[in-house]
Amino acid sequence: MSKERIRHDRSAGGIEKALENLAANKPELENVVKAFGPLLLAKAAFKEECPLPESVKEESFDFDSAGFAQGEPLFASIGMIDFQDDFEGVIPRLLPPMKTAFVGIREDLEKMEKGFSDHVIDTRECVRAFMNDQQEILEKQAGQMGASIQVFQFVLGQLVKPFMEMQAEVFAPLTEGQQWLHGYCPVCGSHAAVAGLAGEGGKRWLQCANCSHEWRFNRHTCPRCSDNDHTKHEYFFDRNSPVKAGERVDVCKECRSYLLTIDLRERIDPVNMDVAAMGMIPLDMLAQQKGYAPLASTPWNALK
Ligand SMILES: [Zn+2]
Ligand SMILES: [Zn+2]
Repeated sequence: MSKERIRHDRSAGGIEKALENLAANKPELENVVKAFGPLLLAKAAFKEECPLPESVKEESFDFDSAGFAQGEPLFASIGMIDFQDDFEGVIPRLLPPMKTAFVGIREDLEKMEKGFSDHVIDTRECVRAFMNDQQEILEKQAGQMGASIQVFQFVLGQLVKPFMEMQAEVFAPLTEGQQWLHGYCPVCGSHAAVAGLAGEGGKRWLQCANCSHEWRFNRHTCPRCSDNDHTKHEYFFDRNSPVKAGERVDVCKECRSYLLTIDLRERIDPVNMDVAAMGMIPLDMLAQQKGYAPLASTPWNALK
């Protein structure tokens, strides 16, 4: 069974190696690597240095398997554990590399950086409002920071991501062995950023854009609109690429969405799916030029 899954390397060291390989194999993406690589590294390093306390265990949570069977993601029933105290620690780690990654919103990021360090807003309230989607509070806080609400929410999403990922890792075992036939994440309910084909016959695994959990999903069904009429689905790839269709973008003509897909069956080493997806940015651009929208936003396909 384990051979069938995507074999990940999510360590900071693994990301570093993957970034080096990407820059060497696709020198035209050097700028992309320089822009987003530091953010990926900083996130992985934060997770390694500030892991969840050992006391957090999946068995201490009541899992609503009936709700899950009805399509309710795990976090909707068990909630997330309180990470508000650790949130202060992630700000100085991730905001600086975000300024390198998102040059277009640098000014807003600088204002937020200053706002957080001057304690202009209540960080605990901010995290709570973000997790509960309390728009009024978020708008007020964005105003106090001098940032636009869109940027404020985008940035909070990036800052919260390492906590989502760590909690998904702890709680995902609760979902194992349970059937899940949906195109959205069984853990947090978000859509996928990238798909991998693994194991015999190329089973499709979707990786969540938000919590990085991965789940099996029918290869011939659109994760967004559930359409399974094969005439509505096609894929593009770079004919000049040495891996050909091993890296491709699947599109659904019914809902006009696209999803990057990596065929992992030939890969011997564990893979970092974030770096691999980042290396497919030309396919992101191609799909968007053709009028398709990503299933989920990633740091490199949003905020152009
Ligand atoms: Zn998720
Ligand atoms: Zn669709």
